[in-house]
Amino acid sequence: MKLTYKTDYLQLIHPFTISSNSRTFTPIVFITLESDGLIGFGEASLPPYLPDNQENVIEFLQSLNLQKFHLETPVENVLDYIFRVEPDHFPAKAALDMALYDLYGKKENKPLYKIFNSLPDLMPETSCTIGIDSEEIIKQKVEELERFCVLKVKLGTEEDKNIIQTIRKITNKPIYIDANQGWKTSKEALEKIEWLYDQNIVMIEQPMPKNMILDQQWLHERSPLPLIADEDCQGIQDIEGLNGRYSGFNIKLMKCGGLREAQQMIELGREASFKIMIGCMNESSCAVMAAATLAPKADWVDLDGPFLIQNNPFEDPEIKNGKIVLKDSPGIGLTLRKG
Ligand code: MG
Repeated sequence: MKLTYKTDYLQLIHPFTISSNSRTFTPIVFITLESDGLIGFGEASLPPYLPDNQENVIEFLQSLNLQKFHLETPVENVLDYIFRVEPDHFPAKAALDMALYDLYGKKENKPLYKIFNSLPDLMPETSCTIGIDSEEIIKQKVEELERFCVLKVKLGTEEDKNIIQTIRKITNKPIYIDANQGWKTSKEALEKIEWLYDQNIVMIEQPMPKNMILDQQWLHERSPLPLIADEDCQGIQDIEGLNGRYSGFNIKLMKCGGLREAQQMIELGREASFKIMIGCMNESSCAVMAAATLAPKADWVDLDGPFLIQNNPFEDPEIKNGKIVLKDSPGIGLTLRKG
């Protein structure tokens, strides 16, 4: 297998502001894995608040010897090797995992959703995100997102009520709230959640800073809305600790290291009666369409990456009735954008 990689930057349509930071682009490393004339695509997304960056992704990729593997090697064996080389490096591992499955799907002539036994008929609607912004821009964004049936709204500042009231003047679509750790005490969080309860809100993602174990438990016992862990749940190792603190968790390929890990998180989560959300970072169609193959197994889907950027190198996912359409073409089903 031949590995190539290339750094790039996804340019955002609007500056993306959450409770802790704001940015206009997101660094990316795109990869390809090539074997027997077939090419698999992968992507590592590297938001600046995470420990990984383009340099350490490339260092990790350079430390691998993938030449010894070929198309006939089971994906499991290649992934076992990649995960053994070094701990962490989850965005790089996610890129390799999706490229391997893309390649394998092309070899088997099967779309990934069939390889993962997902049922396209069960695909939930995907939300699309509105970051923290001025009233005017928020109004504009709500209008731009007309084809989405669910909105995800970033909160976690003094402006929370104003933001929701601005949106509610225009639409009563269901809203997923993401506080991104922005509410600093359990009392503040509960007050906000009780106010939000009457605003057609579906759930609340990561209300308080991660690792606030006892406060999170206190909040979970009192919250009238389900609480979903994001920053508090990076991968399989964190699931057990969510018991009694959250109703569910948000799985992202960049946090857990790819589709194989995500599939295991879904299985473990279901056994423990957790709600499952599948989300993304700022990502192109590559990582988002890979994640979408597991989305029919989730309760909630937030796969909006390609719709927030200007320079997606692949064609955008198709949206029908507010849902991402899973392609029947082999692998992830990506088409490079022309020109
Ligand atoms: Mg989140």
